[in-house]
Amino acid sequence: MKHKNIIAVTFILSAAAIIVMVLAHFMPDYAAIILSAFLGTVTLLSVCVATFNIIFNRNKTTIDTSEISDIIENLNTEMLVWTNDCSAVFMNKSLRRLLGIESVDFDHKETIKRIFGIDTIDNNTISKLIRSELGESSFTNADGETTYIVWSTSLFKQNKNYSLYLSTGFNLTEIKNMQINLANMNKQINLSMEISEIGILMTSDRLNFHASSEIQRMLGLDSGRLGVNEFRNLIHTNDKIQYDSCLKMLETDNNWSDVRSIELRIKSAGGIYRWYSFRFKAIKDSNDELALFGGALLDITERREKDMLIERLAYIDEVTGIANRNKLLQIGQETYECCHLLDFSYWVIVLDIDRFHLVNDTCGYDKGNQMLEDFAHLLYKYVGNGGLAARISGDNFALILRDYGDDELPSRTVLSIQEDMTKLSALEFASINLTCSAGYSRMPSDGNCFLDVLEHAEFALKSCNQYQGNISCYEPSMHDSIIGDTELEKALGNAIDNNELHLFYQPKINLSTGKIMGVEALVRWIKPDGTIVRPDAFVPIAESSHLIGRISEFVLNEACRQNMMWQRMGYPNIVMSINFASSDFYQKDLKDKVFEALARTGLAAEWLEVELTETLALRDIDFAVSQMNKLRELGVQLAMDDFGTGYSSLSYLQVLPITLLKLDRSFITNIEHDNIAYEIVSAVIKIAKSKKIETIAEGIENTNQADILRSAGCDFAQGYLYGKPMPPEQIQQYFEEYSGSAAK
Ligand code: C2E
Ligand code: MG
Ligand code: MG
Repeated sequence: MKHKNIIAVTFILSAAAIIVMVLAHFMPDYAAIILSAFLGTVTLLSVCVATFNIIFNRNKTTIDTSEISDIIENLNTEMLVWTNDCSAVFMNKSLRRLLGIESVDFDHKETIKRIFGIDTIDNNTISKLIRSELGESSFTNADGETTYIVWSTSLFKQNKNYSLYLSTGFNLTEIKNMQINLANMNKQINLSMEISEIGILMTSDRLNFHASSEIQRMLGLDSGRLGVNEFRNLIHTNDKIQYDSCLKMLETDNNWSDVRSIELRIKSAGGIYRWYSFRFKAIKDSNDELALFGGALLDITERREKDMLIERLAYIDEVTGIANRNKLLQIGQETYECCHLLDFSYWVIVLDIDRFHLVNDTCGYDKGNQMLEDFAHLLYKYVGNGGLAARISGDNFALILRDYGDDELPSRTVLSIQEDMTKLSALEFASINLTCSAGYSRMPSDGNCFLDVLEHAEFALKSCNQYQGNISCYEPSMHDSIIGDTELEKALGNAIDNNELHLFYQPKINLSTGKIMGVEALVRWIKPDGTIVRPDAFVPIAESSHLIGRISEFVLNEACRQNMMWQRMGYPNIVMSINFASSDFYQKDLKDKVFEALARTGLAAEWLEVELTETLALRDIDFAVSQMNKLRELGVQLAMDDFGTGYSSLSYLQVLPITLLKLDRSFITNIEHDNIAYEIVSAVIKIAKSKKIETIAEGIENTNQADILRSAGCDFAQGYLYGKPMPPEQIQQYFEEYSGSAAK
């Protein structure tokens, strides 16, 4: 600016001098006057300018920001040059655009305050700006959006009149917005986890989990940090083995992409164990090492409790209150699989109370049941972590014990049990010297699955059956000495030949009309001396040999013949139910056999019903469904017998083409006093109804039970209240008594 002024002044003076010289040349007479007037004017002007400069420069600062402004104008970052008194403020293009300032005419002070987000500009605020204490500011930009800038201010130039500062901005708006989005996202994730009640655990160092707020709430944690070992310690002892083997599987498996899922009990807020579904996954890094392990916990306690209600009936032995055979098979198989994974080993011991029938015969069934219960509790003393005691059947029990390499453990345990038994029998059953025998095998080495191992232990037990109190270890060579048909088998074979098998019939009642709607044919072996043998005593033996086929053939033909005969005799038409054993049911020519029996006797298929147990149907579900469909094609009815004692999964109702569901006696026995049993029964009835499946309750012994079931919507009833299984002549009398009039 200064230079431009000098050039302009020089130019004007030179022009004036040339004019003066031209005038003096053309008017020589006046040249002296013209020159002196020009010099006088120049001198006066010089004096005026000098005086003016002196006066004005005393108060006014002349600021030259041109060098710096040229440099910063087009830089991509927001920059500002300004003086302490705000007399000069220069903003580069980037900052002007942001503030929406286009003209040079703007309020300097207000703009500076807006830019730095300050209320006053004084030495104090300026030094704070220089020390970056007021570095970050936010203001609304020209588009109305909030802009975040961190300013770095430094003193650029200083003289006695002013200080010139240079402020460079770092625009944080995008980062801030990302942070806000992330915070919102986190909030959203937390909210959705809270709503869905899912907790997340995550670790990258295998030492500590990062626990989401939902996990903290679930497990009652004080912070979001949870040691990996600390978490393991919260898992229920019985579920730890499952958790460990899953983690082990993660290490050894190559299939990392799978999300896996297990169900565990974990100690939760308030110190109580709750059930969780734990879904987890691991991610490997480029070195094939575990980089990230994460899991989601969902509280499934309520679902488990509901399942447990049904399971309780399906998996708990009624007499002793300990696990039954179903439970043993389930837990046993899980343990078997863990053995392979973790390189563990377990003993499977099968125990049989010697001459138990003596307790029943001499002391009565109540005492017998008491004995079984005492024995079951006695066994519990020996169950360690992850072990199990179960009642397999009658007087047979099983123990699963962890094998720590001590080969003597099974026999030592059985000896102690025998000692305890002696004390027990001395107290309660003085006249009987009670002992038990045992057979045992080792898992997983003694079989291809748990059932194999169990059967081998049972096999070892059988092989020592002759000697009371014996303990026998399974050895593969034992199979060489298998004894052929037992005496009972032989006797049963003779009984079939000699027509000693008979059918008894138990009435089934329509609960709303009280009329008889069907009968169940139950086989009886009536010996020549008149003794009646119940099917439980010989059907299982017949099932393990070819004899069952002959029994079933007899039952099928006799039941059809009898029903047809009643129809011919003029009794109202009723449904005849028969029971099938597994080996009968899975025969390929089953449909032909049933068809032949119907054709031979002339009975219409709709009056025949086949009862199948869940366990039987689930042995090979696909084949079972195809067999059932074939029977349905004939028009034969299908009932699911003993519902509630097997797997009891209502989902099977979807796949099995059954027409009737028989609620097991165990539900009914408790229905009057046990709310849970009632809840289960009414839920099952409702679900069956929705699937158009009729329901019948077995084992009704009093009117109160009948009333409860009727009000729960159950269609039919069977039990001693209406009549015990009876021979044909007796049931005919029954038909006559109840034809027309309602049964109780
Ligand atoms: P199931 O098919 O569940 O038959 C019902 C059993 O419960 C019958 O025992 C019956 O007498 C008994 N029962 C009925 N109502 C009551 C009651 O109110 N209270 C009590 N305490 N018990 C009641 P049963 O006749 O001894 O038959 C036992 C099982 O033997 C049958 O159970 C069935 O699985 C099997 N079974 C019977 N007959 C045959 C047959 O012909 N073939 C095959 N494969 N199995 C049969
Ligand atoms: Mg039955
Ligand atoms: Mg039954």
